[in-house]
Amino acid sequence: MPELLNQIREQLAALQEQKLLRKRRIVDGPQGPLLEVDGRQYLAFCSNDYLGLANHPALHAAAQAGLDKYGVGASASALISGHTSVVEELELALAEFVGMPRALHFSTGYMANMGTIPALVGAGDVVFSDRLNHACLIDGARLSGAQFRIYPHGDVARLEQLLAKSNSSGNSPRKLVVTDAIFSMDGDIAPLPELLALCEKYDAWLLVDDAHGFGVLGPQGRGSVAHFGLKSERILYMGTLGKAAGVAGAFVAGDAILIEWLLQRARTYIFTTASPPMLASALLAAVKVMQTEDWRQQHLQQLIGRLRSGLADLPWPLLPSETAVQALIVEDNQLALDLMEGLRALGIWVPAIRPPTVPKDTARLRISLSAAHSNEQIDQLISALHTVAKHALAKNALTKKYTA
Ligand code: PMP
Repeated sequence: MPELLNQIREQLAALQEQKLLRKRRIVDGPQGPLLEVDGRQYLAFCSNDYLGLANHPALHAAAQAGLDKYGVGASASALISGHTSVVEELELALAEFVGMPRALHFSTGYMANMGTIPALVGAGDVVFSDRLNHACLIDGARLSGAQFRIYPHGDVARLEQLLAKSNSSGNSPRKLVVTDAIFSMDGDIAPLPELLALCEKYDAWLLVDDAHGFGVLGPQGRGSVAHFGLKSERILYMGTLGKAAGVAGAFVAGDAILIEWLLQRARTYIFTTASPPMLASALLAAVKVMQTEDWRQQHLQQLIGRLRSGLADLPWPLLPSETAVQALIVEDNQLALDLMEGLRALGIWVPAIRPPTVPKDTARLRISLSAAHSNEQIDQLISALHTVAKHALAKNALTKKYTA
């Protein structure tokens, strides 16, 4: 066997040994609170379909109309002949919705960040990044060749020190602060007003990745920047369209000059086939539904409150979060897995998240809620969590398993 294959086989075996080998499961049927996984139906708290739009009839109908009008594929990159009228319309609608001058549609959020950061900064510039930022902000920053400075999670004071230091370096690098608006594994909100104030003070730019806030926070789900009522030419706003918007894709919105520059220079925009136009048709419907059915955001907020009060007396804390992502920190990896398995046996799907996805000793259950959930389904989860917690703790008392 060639040496490379041998090495990789050993690496896979090591992952298996450490119980870090990831496995996919087969989902059959549409997204929703009831999900068929590997042939069994579960009450699911694992999706990012925060508003319950992934299987909404208005999006179905719009996708079908888009399919009938445009066919299945865009067949070329946007700058060749793949930029359809429906994407043009979507960009206008998204810019208006988030209150920014212009928007550019990307195929995924990962590609949006990977294209945007290197288009804005390069060698000699500096990117400042929250320690808990998503992989695609980190990868985009590394790809840009700019210096990469990490500040501790939410630590505005430390960020200011780093910005001040780069200002005193004598050169005048471009400075770009990049942050998740809602941290995907914790559910907390970045201090965007403070970050923006620092960007104003130190002449830096702010890229806000609102993958988990778009559709959820702000009036009618207009996102985290709208939630704080911020307006600035310094903000570039990245919203993803595969989570609350229920479909797929992403957009970057901001000053018209910056967006024009991205169109000219973002390689992940230029050198890829435009995404199927019918997705943009469905997304136009999604933006409308967010506005006409804003009971969805309100219902989601109410479910969040219901879950948090129902879990308040568990022996483990929920991280502070007013978003659809609720993290129950149990610390111990095995305990997280045991709780996940216990819930699964009761027909409930909640993922356990362990290092290296999250820092050591912060293993957790990541509960994600959707406006498609009912109060009764939240109550079912609360009751099941109390049951599995009791079992896990009793087992622990017998074996001292989690305190070793
Ligand atoms: N940013 C954050 C914070 C995310 O959580 C994700 C997806 N999990 C992305 C970006 C990537 O978005 P997409 O799935 O559209 O590639």
